[in-house]
Amino acid sequence: MSHSGISPAAYDVSSGHGEAQVSMPKTHIVPAAHGFAFEVKKGELFRIVDLYGEQVVDFAAWVQGTNLTEKLSMDYTRYHLRGVTPAIGECLWTNKDEPILQLVDDTCHVHDMTFMSCFPEMYAKKGVENHKSCAGNMAEVMKPYGMNSYLDASSPFNIFQNTPNYSLKRLGSSKPGDQVTFKALKDCICAASCCPYDLDGFNGGLVTDIAVVTGL
Ligand SMILES: [Zn+2]
Repeated sequence: MSHSGISPAAYDVSSGHGEAQVSMPKTHIVPAAHGFAFEVKKGELFRIVDLYGEQVVDFAAWVQGTNLTEKLSMDYTRYHLRGVTPAIGECLWTNKDEPILQLVDDTCHVHDMTFMSCFPEMYAKKGVENHKSCAGNMAEVMKPYGMNSYLDASSPFNIFQNTPNYSLKRLGSSKPGDQVTFKALKDCICAASCCPYDLDGFNGGLVTDIAVVTGL
């Protein structure tokens, strides 16, 4: 990412310290199979990047100051989209029927908002104990914000997950470097889980790191 292309809008002259502050992008590498929570203010942009390709990212968001009660809702979003694929410029919605995020860029265009996160019992029923899961990752990274159980994890927006006709197949959708960029329409807490599902050839057969870029 170029550091030379800072737009004038990135300069914050309202700090009152007499010096302009430069908002620089911060890249957070989320290790394979792990989760990451981050806060964004209304109007800020952030980006989810698939660094190596074919890596699903389970994504969720909550409105700050609501004790995790107002949250990104795939049900409401499907209603507003009249479908399951947001176009650039369209919004994701909360369970209070409010737009929470706007999709401002997307180099992949293939995502899912129909399936739940992978969860501990899914792996246990397949004979794999103590496997990391997206629901578990969400609970772990959201614990400081008051989430007590993976059962409280939301239905995710499954970025880079390819589920044609609601089928789960070994289909990747993203290439290395593919990204989605959102604009926050409210002060949010966001969480992303680098999906640990490494069985049956999913996630390209190898779970890999992703990046979350904030401060855009
Ligand atoms: Zn998963």
